[in-house]
Amino acid sequence: MGLMGQMMSMPLLISSLIQHAARHSGDTEIVSKRVEGDLHRYNWRECERRSRKLAQALVRLGLKAGDRVGTLAWNGYRHLEIYYGSSGSALVCHTINPRLFPEQIAWIANDAQDLALCFDLNFLPLVEKLAPQLPHVRHFVLMTDRAHMPAQTTLPGLLCYEELVEAEDGRYTWPVFDENAASSICYTSGTTGHPKGAVYSHRSSVLHAFASALPDGMDCSSKDVILPVVPMFHVNAWGLPYSSAIVGAKLVFPGPHLDGKSLYELFEAEQVTFSAGVPTVWLGLLNYVGANQLKFSSFTRTVIGGSACPPAMLRTLMDDYGVEVIHAWGMTELSPLGTLSKLTARQLKLPQEEQRRILEKQGKVIYGIDMAVIDDAGDAQPWDGTSSGNLVVRGHWVINSYFGQTQSALVPVKEQGSDAGLWFPTGDVATIDADGFMQITDRSKDVIKSGGEWISSIDLENIAMAHPAVGEAAAIACRHPKWDERPLLVVVRKPGASLSREEMLAFYEGRIAKWQIPDDVVFVDEIPHTATGKIQKLKLRQQFAEHRLPGA
Ligand code: ADP
Repeated sequence: MGLMGQMMSMPLLISSLIQHAARHSGDTEIVSKRVEGDLHRYNWRECERRSRKLAQALVRLGLKAGDRVGTLAWNGYRHLEIYYGSSGSALVCHTINPRLFPEQIAWIANDAQDLALCFDLNFLPLVEKLAPQLPHVRHFVLMTDRAHMPAQTTLPGLLCYEELVEAEDGRYTWPVFDENAASSICYTSGTTGHPKGAVYSHRSSVLHAFASALPDGMDCSSKDVILPVVPMFHVNAWGLPYSSAIVGAKLVFPGPHLDGKSLYELFEAEQVTFSAGVPTVWLGLLNYVGANQLKFSSFTRTVIGGSACPPAMLRTLMDDYGVEVIHAWGMTELSPLGTLSKLTARQLKLPQEEQRRILEKQGKVIYGIDMAVIDDAGDAQPWDGTSSGNLVVRGHWVINSYFGQTQSALVPVKEQGSDAGLWFPTGDVATIDADGFMQITDRSKDVIKSGGEWISSIDLENIAMAHPAVGEAAAIACRHPKWDERPLLVVVRKPGASLSREEMLAFYEGRIAKWQIPDDVVFVDEIPHTATGKIQKLKLRQQFAEHRLPGA
């Protein structure tokens, strides 16, 4: 070894984020719409003090480094305190998606062996029902004050969150430990099988927060008022609780109030500048502002990801409301951020139509992540915007293996015939263009394989969504005796709109190659969604398994 650097070496710990926010942006507000219905306001300084008191309380309950603290909660200040109080005291924060089926929630809490379970008031009946199936949980903590505690409950020794916090004096120093220790666990939503746990480390979470706040990332700053619509149980609200602390932004939490009206009113009242969420939540908000002819007075940009952002939505937000849309791609196994679509200096000089087509892609990686598309033999494909393959990634916040599994989740990759090491296979099919912009064509399981050719379900959905009478659309593979699979389009009409099968199919003419046009259209009242708001393709395929395509 040659000359060594002579710089301070401090572990990258999650507690350092909240300490920084409290010390340098202490007065900056955190506003939460509570489950109880009212607004709660305090600031980063108070948040840090209460997180420390919570840490003291968790330690007093007997929880030890590495023990898991489960949460079933909406976006709010108490949930934020649990993020920092648990991870900061070397415990592991395990956010559980309350929208999952109760059996799945129990399965996940048991798999992670949660010793404590903290939950919002409205989940009390759910937790009471689940408790007999949760043998590991020693402490049930209701995230409310004494006044809202139930007179009677079947939960053994139910604890009151506010009482736990208030009983402590706050004389607690955040412990210093190995930055590679686990900080939190998130489970994949199981769209493609059993949920699997991704175990983040302090180091991976801090690096993710650093990089995602960069200007070509989510571009977060102390001038921002950030409202994460994406739930804190969906991959840590895409890291926003951490990146907000790094930059000292004001945070606004919507609680369970995610309908268009509630969101719009909160956006306006708190002068929100930046938000993030899956496309389905923006559908609700846009319907509300559209129907009431409203405008946003402060909202200027949003990250949309989790599933493909329909180009029509991107255009409506940008052209009608002046909101910059940053299309992003990521996944639970990536903490979640991988790529974002932001124009480079050269691209900003292109005609607007060309710029839009670039913004519709999933975008470029941020520093800390690398990506490639490979064929089935593991050979990297050229970056020409047309060669599609399996998307693989590697980086500082990509998993090595899943929780409880010893075998690696990675696959070998070859570049120009040489060994390029082990990468994580995302299960997505994508292209990368010469500028490094990645575009997802499909999930490998959702791709429609017609006579040996692939048809992108995302392309078909994006076209359908551009039709003014379409509320929501999903393209799925339907069995075909000759072509193996052919596309079937499932459509929910907008309320009051009329649209026929023939009109829908005619809309595809000239917008896509003839052989890719769906063979049939069915209209439904509702399309099933996963607990994270994505279309449940598997369920739709089952629902239409017996569907006979015309001419088949
Ligand atoms: P799950 O895999 O359980 O659904 P994730 O939230 O981790 O939960 O989902 C990650 C997947 O979501 C990606 O692998 C990809 O298929 C899809 N996805 C995420 N963002 C986008 C996007 N912008 N466009 C298309 N697909 C996306």
